[in-house]
Order: sequence, then C-alpha cells, then structure tokens
Amino acid sequence: MRRNPRRAYDEQGREIAPPTVGDARAEGETTAAVTCHSCRRHVIITTDRFPAWLPFPDIALRLRCSGCGSRDVSVMKDIQAHYAHAHAETGWRM
Ligand SMILES: [Zn+2]
Repeated sequence: MRRNPRRAYDEQGREIAPPTVGDARAEGETTAAVTCHSCRRHVIITTDRFPAWLPFPDIALRLRCSGCGSRDVSVMKDIQAHYAHAHAETGWRM
C-alpha cells in the first residue's frame, strides 16, 4: 500500500488521523509554517481562510509558492506561535 507523505503511520502501518485546521484553531493556533521544497522559501501564513474540517497537512494542497510558483510545499505547525502560546498558558518556556 502506498503511503501518503502528508500522513503519519503507527508501527502497524495504520494511518494516524491528522489534526484538522479546526483542531489547531481550538488550541489557539491560527498560523502555519510553510516550506517550499524547490526554492527553500519559508513563510508563516494565517489559516483563517481554510475550512475547519481540512486536515492540517493538506493545507499544502491548496498552496503555491509565492516565490517560484512550485506546488511542492509542505505545511507544519507554526512552532514559534505554538511555544509562545504554551508559554502564555503555562508559564513554562521550552
Ligand atoms: Zn518556491
């Protein structure tokens, strides 16, 4: 079985359901980190324009690099915002 590069799999090879845009929003995260694999451009975007049901990694399917026009992009959590949020909530710093 061919694996989806935007999904995580457990030890038995079962697909792990990814968080959705709505899940991230519920955690107070409204941004995402996007990386272009062609020109290595890295940007932070807001996720406001994406529907809550959309699997977070699949934001990449709807994007095109604003630098080189490539669709070979990947989306990850905006780690800086994630840590800032965690710090604000718990007082802990990573
Ligand atoms: Zn690019």
